[in-house]
Amino acid sequence: MKTEIIKVDREHFEEEELEFAAECLRNGKLVAFPTETVYGLGGNAFDSTAAARIYAAKGRPSDNPLIVHIARIKDLSELASEVPESAYRLAEAFWPGPLTMILKKSDRVPETTTGGLDTVAVRMPSDPIAAALIRRSGVFVAAPSANKSGRPSTTKAEHVIEDLDGRIDVIIDGGASAIGLESTIVDLTGDVPLILRPGYISAEQLADVLGEVRFDEAVLKRSPSEPVVARAPGMKYRHYAPKAPLFIVEGKPEEVVRYINSVAAKSAAEGKIIGILATEETKRYYTGGMVFSVGERKDAETIAAGLFDTLRGFDETGVSVIYSESFADNPLGTAIMNRLLKAAGYHILHPDKGEAEYI
Ligand code: AMP
Ligand code: MG
Repeated sequence: MKTEIIKVDREHFEEEELEFAAECLRNGKLVAFPTETVYGLGGNAFDSTAAARIYAAKGRPSDNPLIVHIARIKDLSELASEVPESAYRLAEAFWPGPLTMILKKSDRVPETTTGGLDTVAVRMPSDPIAAALIRRSGVFVAAPSANKSGRPSTTKAEHVIEDLDGRIDVIIDGGASAIGLESTIVDLTGDVPLILRPGYISAEQLADVLGEVRFDEAVLKRSPSEPVVARAPGMKYRHYAPKAPLFIVEGKPEEVVRYINSVAAKSAAEGKIIGILATEETKRYYTGGMVFSVGERKDAETIAAGLFDTLRGFDETGVSVIYSESFADNPLGTAIMNRLLKAAGYHILHPDKGEAEYI
C-alpha cells in the first residue's frame, strides 16, 4: 500500500487541506494524525473493519481497546449508554485536551473498537488539526497511538513513517506533538473514579473537579514481580521499548553520574558504547558513552515532550545498552516514570544503596 503523506501547518491551514484524509476516514481507511499528546492512528470507530485494520497495522493484540476521538462534548451521549454528571464536569474543565474518560458503551460502538469490553474510552483532542479532521470527517475516530505495538509512541510524523509507512493510507505531518505523552485515562464506571494511566492532567487536577480519585494499582507498579490486574488492557503489555535494553539509575545525582560513568568506562574497555539518557543540566558531567539530552530538568514539560523521541533516537546509534537518569522528582514525574519504567521493563538500579541490583 502506498502511504500518502500530507504536510499541514498547525498554525495556518484551511480545512480543505484535510478533505482527502477526512474522505479516507469516511471510507474505512486509516489516517495517522497529530494530536497534542502523541500521533494517533485513526479509523472510523463505528466500522468494525476499520478498527480491525488498526490492530493489524500496529500489530496490536485485539483485546487492547482503542480510544474514540470526538470533536464536540455533546457526542459523548452517542458513544456512552450512560453519561454521569462527573463526565460533563471533567469535559467542562479539561476538554478539548489530554484527558480520556472510560464510560459504559452504547450499543452502536462495535466490540472490535472496545477490545470486547462493555466500556468505551472517549477523548476530545485540542490539537487544531486533530479537531478539524474529526469534525470534517463526520465520523467518530478510533485512534490508538500511531506506533508499532511495543515501540515508543510517536510524537513526530517521521516516527510514524518509521513504523507504519506502507501499512496505512495517509499520514498527516503536522509537526511535533505539544505534550508528548499519551492522555490521562480516568475510569468513571465504578464507585470511585480510577486513574488507569497517568498523563499531563494530574490526579490533583482531577480531584479538584471530582472530589475523590484513586490510582489503579497497576499504575503505581514499580517492579515486574508485583502481581497486579491491569484494568486498562494496554497496561499489561510491554511498551515503549527502544531496541537496546534500558536501565533506570536512581539515587543522588552525583552518584548516578559516577555510576553511569564507571559502566561507560568498563564498556568502552570492552569495545562497547553505552547510551546515556541525560538532561541539559547533567549532560556535561558524563565522560563517556553516547549522551542524549531529553530536555531540561527545570522545565518538566520539555522532558515529557522529548522522551519518546529520545528513546527512538538511541535505535539509530547501535548502542548495546542504555542507562537513564530518573525523573521521579519531576512535576510530571508520575506520567514520565510510568512510561520510562515500562520501557525499562521495570529494571531500576540503585548504586547508592551498595551494590547495584535489580528490583
Ligand atoms: P493508546 O491509544 O495506544 O494510548 O492506547 C489506549 C489505551 O487506552 C490502552 O492502554 C487501552 O488499554 C486503554 N483503553 C481503551 N479503551 C479502554 C476501556 N474501555 N477500558 C479501559 N482501558 C481502555
Ligand atoms: Mg499506545
